Amino acid sequence: MSRSELTILLASPRGFCAGVERAIEIVEQALEQNGPPIYVRHEIVHNRYVVDALRAKGAVFVEELDEVPDGALVVFSAHGVPKAVPAEARRRNLLFADATCPLVSKVHRGVEQHYRRGRTVLLIGHSGHPEVVGTMGQLPRGAVILVETVAQAETLSVPDEGKLAYATQTTLSLRETESILAVLKRRFPAIRGPRREDICYATTNRQRAVEAIAPKADLTLIIGAPNSSNSVRLVEVAKAAGCPAAALVQSAASMDWPLLEGVATVAISAGASAPEQLVDELIEACRERFAIDVHEVRVVQEDVAFKSPPIPMRHAS
Ligand code: SF4
Repeated sequence: MSRSELTILLASPRGFCAGVERAIEIVEQALEQNGPPIYVRHEIVHNRYVVDALRAKGAVFVEELDEVPDGALVVFSAHGVPKAVPAEARRRNLLFADATCPLVSKVHRGVEQHYRRGRTVLLIGHSGHPEVVGTMGQLPRGAVILVETVAQAETLSVPDEGKLAYATQTTLSLRETESILAVLKRRFPAIRGPRREDICYATTNRQRAVEAIAPKADLTLIIGAPNSSNSVRLVEVAKAAGCPAAALVQSAASMDWPLLEGVATVAISAGASAPEQLVDELIEACRERFAIDVHEVRVVQEDVAFKSPPIPMRHAS
């Protein structure tokens, strides 16, 4: 029996961004230089496959610094950390390497600058996401107000309308952020902010690539973890762009194959923390079941790379 045909539209750019590549490189370099164990506070990036691969090489993932023994080397994740975390590491004389993405660090410097100028910062983002916790933790409690929705933007009250600024999480949906910003700018015309919102180049490019292919597909599959903000946003972007169905897939092994019943064209992309290997495996799994025809659709060529910081050397005991 002949297999049914399936056209795959593959988004480009997709998958790893420069910040994720740098964070992984920092942990790998730390392991190479110092040998295991290397402690990593929080998932270095939101992907189980990346975390498991580093764990196999000797990385130990912890939630908080009190789980890190004295004298150990700890790496902070790409999402950034509140100021209290490096301060506590110094107090305990821990060695640390900071894998915070330089684009997140830029947001941190921005909110500090607003605070120094006496402005309250409205941070557009998702409560509890590590990046939001890290950005809010750059300033004293109360100096940052989190705005998650258009409804909140409509009703929030601020201490001084003339002294306001905004910042955004780097991995938000462009469209949703624009709607929230439009409300804030209407209500508080004097609000200050970055020339463009802080949504990073990688988030922007991955969303544009999905927007280009999703309307031509019956189904969009985004490879990524459920706790990866930018991956979840890509699912939303695909639906908003007019794709009848969109779903997050963690790996080929966890693919819900009935989703592809009756599908002639599927759009595939991957969040910024998903390795390309997962894309290859999903395409191979499709090839085993369908007569596939793969078309890569590139909306922009990316050439961003970030240098890793020097890694501290653990003293021989
Ligand atoms: S998604 Fe953007 S901000 Fe986050 S690590 Fe990647 S490049 Fe940096």
